[in-house]
Amino acid sequence: MRRLFPISSSPFETAKTLKDRGKFLNDRKEIIGKVPGVEVGDVFQYWNELNIIGLHREMKYEKYIDHVIRDRKRIATSVVCNGLDDDGLEHYEVYISTEIRENAELLVNSFNVKNDIRVIIKCFLKNSGRCGMDVYCYYGLYKEEVAWNVLMKYGIDGIRKGLIVEDISRQREAVPICVINTVDKERLTVESFVYKTKMIYPNWCKPIPVPHLGCDCEGKCGDSAKCLCAVRNGGKIPYNKNNVIVASGGVIHECGPYCKCSADCPNRVSQKGIKFNLEISRTERKGWGVRSRATIPAGSFICEYIGEVIEDDEVDKRVDNDEYLFSIGDYHMDDSVLKEAYAVLCWMATRMLRRRTVIVVP
Ligand SMILES: [Zn+2]
Ligand SMILES: [Zn+2]
Repeated sequence: MRRLFPISSSPFETAKTLKDRGKFLNDRKEIIGKVPGVEVGDVFQYWNELNIIGLHREMKYEKYIDHVIRDRKRIATSVVCNGLDDDGLEHYEVYISTEIRENAELLVNSFNVKNDIRVIIKCFLKNSGRCGMDVYCYYGLYKEEVAWNVLMKYGIDGIRKGLIVEDISRQREAVPICVINTVDKERLTVESFVYKTKMIYPNWCKPIPVPHLGCDCEGKCGDSAKCLCAVRNGGKIPYNKNNVIVASGGVIHECGPYCKCSADCPNRVSQKGIKFNLEISRTERKGWGVRSRATIPAGSFICEYIGEVIEDDEVDKRVDNDEYLFSIGDYHMDDSVLKEAYAVLCWMATRMLRRRTVIVVP
């Protein structure tokens, strides 16, 4: 009989010899989820046994998270955890404290993809051997619970505690809009959350092109009687050079595509989109909300209130727990305004958050 490795070699050397000779099981496959032939409760004496059968491929001891590459992203496939207390998986310790910075990213990816993660528990058996011994027990498949528990537990630089989605807008805003939940297990995903950047109008309320309403200014508009848009705003451009509202009043008329002024005209603010680091965050009592990571100067444009325009009759049919209705009929809006241009409801910063209606010539 040919000997593959010396009898006195360590489990690591044995495993390495087997790997070099192509003797690992399932070696050419990247397994996500169940490994053929391994059942929940199977116990292994050595770390390297996990490698040999494909349950956990990382051969180096203390590499507690294994991964594969999917769509150019690293996603976690298995984790080795340290025992369990009476509360079960909810409160287990994961042996990754020293690796967390490099591995939090793949847990976030795994959380978003919702792939199965194999959980292996390292247990100490008091009654085995002369003074007890560590063994590895296959605990089963878990989806995002593993990633969730780890991310909730460690708040670290780069990857924030409770971060679920890095940019729910999928780069359709100039700044990423992340989703954070440090409160409970509710989650929003890129798939379940429909992020809109354009209003949806019903047939009875389509914006009407009105080229004659554009101003003829060259370069930037100013407080001139020649600028149609300034005239509509009471003779003054309503924003200062920091894009902050200076003129009080209800409706603001911005320059639009039919205006001849330049893109850096001071009367174009809301149409340039979100500038502040807003994030969707879970609150303890009020469900999901939007907050800013930085202080927003009073009078700044925050975001556009975008959605579908529906009639009152339609409201009763549609409303369920996920609807956020915004009544626009009673606020500086009348038929002439709707016919003239289209209205953009904006959140502007004041001492209290207030909505403003900004009219943009379509
Ligand atoms: Zn202008
Ligand atoms: Zn103008």
